[in-house]
Amino acid sequence: MVLIDGLGDRPQEKLHGKTPFEYAKTPVWDGLEKTGGRGRFITCPKGLRADSVTGICTLLGVPEKQIPIGRAALEAAAKGVFLAPKDFAYRCNLAAFDKNGILVSSSGGTLTDAEMKQVTQKLWENEKRDGLELILLTGYRNLIIKRHGVTSEIATMPPPHQNIGGLLFHGEMELNNSIKINGLYYRLYFWDESQGVALPFFQDLWKMTGAAVAQAEIVHGIARMMEMKAPFVPGATGETDTSLGAKAFAALDLLEQYGFVLLHVNGTDEAAHRRNPLEKACFLEQIDQILLQIILSKLPKDTRLMICSDHDSCSDTGEHRGMPQPFWVWGPGIETKNYKTLPGGCAVKLLLG
Ligand SMILES: [Zn+2]
Repeated sequence: MVLIDGLGDRPQEKLHGKTPFEYAKTPVWDGLEKTGGRGRFITCPKGLRADSVTGICTLLGVPEKQIPIGRAALEAAAKGVFLAPKDFAYRCNLAAFDKNGILVSSSGGTLTDAEMKQVTQKLWENEKRDGLELILLTGYRNLIIKRHGVTSEIATMPPPHQNIGGLLFHGEMELNNSIKINGLYYRLYFWDESQGVALPFFQDLWKMTGAAVAQAEIVHGIARMMEMKAPFVPGATGETDTSLGAKAFAALDLLEQYGFVLLHVNGTDEAAHRRNPLEKACFLEQIDQILLQIILSKLPKDTRLMICSDHDSCSDTGEHRGMPQPFWVWGPGIETKNYKTLPGGCAVKLLLG
């Protein structure tokens, strides 16, 4: 299952009225389309948030009632930190503000990865309290863990990527809980409180072993919580600069030992959040020419392949939408036909036959 995060989009002015997928040249993918089945999955059931947690859990067959709301507990799992039901986790972004307190960047401003880590640790010195633990994820993303909490202890804010341009700290920027670098004021931004959750194990759901190639912590965490084998692949970044070749070969290796392999590609979603439709389209071309090319040339003959997505990521507004997502399925026993719109929970079933 090649899961392309945030594949769906709206027609974009910058792409002459086409969606990034329509704009991208994808000959390998087009070839698949001619010999396989296609349709749409409902990946975001009504009432659930249109995000990767909802979409990916749904596609992996997690029952709707067990889909977690918050993401921090899942990201902690990616770091091997598993939360008990009474533990709390919070997302903590390194955010940048202007001198008036307007949020300029929810993703580390103009700092390098190393600088982000340094600044985050320095800021945490001022914020830290007994019993709270900081976990550094990649780049601007961090977590705060509170073990055995009774109630939440941190005041959280709305998702920061939806708050860009908002005035959040009236004249507070000069206070010592921010660090000024190159005219921007850096602060920790707490959001998305979640409590310890459990997910069903992949093997219990499908009576088959599962593995995942996923660098984005949220997806890596989902896989680990479902007891899927989830190695970190050197060269994978969870971004548009990821090594698609390394990911493809890692997935093919896992297929020798595991019945089902999820290959998650995250850069499409990141490009859309940067409101860069052209970057998203170019990355889709690379997915076609590198990742799909390798997989198709090496995939064992008895194996089915699916390409699908978790949600729309609109590269004009940077927002997610929970529309039904396109899928393509191909391989032995799969007819060349159009399926009607199916519940996302059918995805693994369709692959396993
Ligand atoms: Zn996203």
